[in-house]
Amino acid sequence: MPSDIDLKGLVRTIPDYPKPGIMFRDITTLLGHAAGFRACVEDLVRPFQDQRVESVAGVEARGFILGGAAADRLRCGFVPIRKKGKLPHKAIGQDYELEYGIDVIEVHEDALSPGEPVLLVDDLIATGGTAVAAVKLLRRLRAEVVGAAFVIDLPDLGGCARLAELGVECHTLISFE
Ligand code: 5GP
Repeated sequence: MPSDIDLKGLVRTIPDYPKPGIMFRDITTLLGHAAGFRACVEDLVRPFQDQRVESVAGVEARGFILGGAAADRLRCGFVPIRKKGKLPHKAIGQDYELEYGIDVIEVHEDALSPGEPVLLVDDLIATGGTAVAAVKLLRRLRAEVVGAAFVIDLPDLGGCARLAELGVECHTLISFE
């Protein structure tokens, strides 16, 4: 049963951030609401509770907050996917397109074992550029991506459809058209 808390009502919208024309969905208001944050994490992991998941991978930076909490809920480990140059050990990198430009994300080359079931978590999926790059990174480590969970979907930007093309199912809690 999904929670009866109005998660969407806890997300704050900032017009024209980080640049004119962008409606930024700010989740800090949701994270700061104790019952809302808890319900959000419970709803995020619910479909995966009875599946074999050994690690949660979260994308810097908001994916660390939600992914860390999700990993704790699922009683599994956490793997950080970071922006280029931030990881201390040997890492592999993947280019990705963000809604606002191009960047590179990295993961430690020994973060996951071949065949390890991993759940990808981030706060929001827009074009899917970040999530597609993250799935490619995880698969280059030969991990098995069991799914991807996001608090917010912007369906008009097609991110979940791009993940579906890679055979990864999206679980999202709220959407903004
Ligand atoms: P995508 O790569 O799917 O186009 O963009 C998703 C990534 O950009 C996520 O890592 C997400 O954190 C960030 N992002 C893009 N737009 C927003 C937004 O409106 N709100 C938040 N919280 N994150 C965003």
